[in-house]
Amino acid sequence: MLSPEVSNAVQHLPRSGIRRVFDEASKYPDCIRLEVGEPSFPTPQHIKDAAASAMDSDFTKYTPNAGIADLREGLARKLRDRNKITVTPEQIVVTPGGVAAVFSSLTALLNNGDEVLLADPSWPNYLQMTILLGATPVFYPLRIENDLVPTAADIESKITSRTKVLLLNSPGNPSGAVIPEHQLIEILAVANKHNIWVISDEVYDEIYFEEPPVSLQPFDKEGRVISVFSFSKTYAMTGWRVGYLTGPSTIVNHILRAQEPITSCVNSMAQKAALAAITGDQTCVADMRSAYAKRAKLVTKIFDEHGVQYARPTGAFYTMVEITASGMSDLDFVSRMITEKRVAVVPGSAFGPGSGNFVRVSLASSESNLEIGANRIANAIKEWA
Ligand code: PLP
Repeated sequence: MLSPEVSNAVQHLPRSGIRRVFDEASKYPDCIRLEVGEPSFPTPQHIKDAAASAMDSDFTKYTPNAGIADLREGLARKLRDRNKITVTPEQIVVTPGGVAAVFSSLTALLNNGDEVLLADPSWPNYLQMTILLGATPVFYPLRIENDLVPTAADIESKITSRTKVLLLNSPGNPSGAVIPEHQLIEILAVANKHNIWVISDEVYDEIYFEEPPVSLQPFDKEGRVISVFSFSKTYAMTGWRVGYLTGPSTIVNHILRAQEPITSCVNSMAQKAALAAITGDQTCVADMRSAYAKRAKLVTKIFDEHGVQYARPTGAFYTMVEITASGMSDLDFVSRMITEKRVAVVPGSAFGPGSGNFVRVSLASSESNLEIGANRIANAIKEWA
């Protein structure tokens, strides 16, 4: 029997290039997995204990849509102390991960045909969400000579009368770039001039190797910035699905209305775990941060020794490596790296149409794996040149 058709949006949804590599690499048990985008650490014990105790005390029902009050109060303090963002708990919405925070925000902002500015390269889910919502993605370039930090001029050059939203991500995936304060201010001035919304994805705000990243929202005097955060990366809680967003009350209320039919609320026990994460000892965060910093140093030293070009990582846990010298496309390079060298990385074109001269290396792996993997990548670039 003939089935009715699925939506055009879903038919045209690109599959994540990261997932494809994951499937391919899984066929080789000895493959070193440097494609993975999640922390290599377990969730700290005190956080797991809080969830267990929530379950034992039957804290297992629906919560308010925007999240439980004590978590939102705790997040208001965290945003003030860490991000210099002064908001009331009512301006915070707890979401099922940063992914849902971005999606609900885009849902509240976009109409069919609106243009969304995305970095090339950027996290592929932004593109998928834009397509799902019937909007048009427009890419602005990130340049290797700027270590993949976006510039106001490159962003402004892509703005048209249909541009509605600018997506910024610092520290960046896959760029590993932290946008310095003066560049954030210049970019915000462009958003003000052209009257566009800005979604500032700061889910890696606690993972940095130099100065702590600066948040965009404190500079926003016009109420156009929505900031997105997450527990996933900071506390190694990717599977718990807790994130949050904040912004001006008017828009936050619209986003909350958009979230209600999609998710209702975040898992009640996971919210208690998140509360324990932000109110508990923060040593785990500092320990994970220094482990990633050490790995970034190790990998970049190996690439420097081999003369391999890469974007200098200053935050998140990735670096983009230039593979032009290999003379191969990123897809061929990645496929041969898996089958011949047993190292999995992600092709740059998974992150944007202009990024096929890169592969993404994740630092979320052990030092020994990174050492072997980085050397194999560097040698392959030379061998296949
Ligand atoms: N934003 C960026 C840039 C990411 O890389 C990710 C996850 O990889 C997310 C948001 C969403 O993370 P989560 O939904 O687990 O908070």
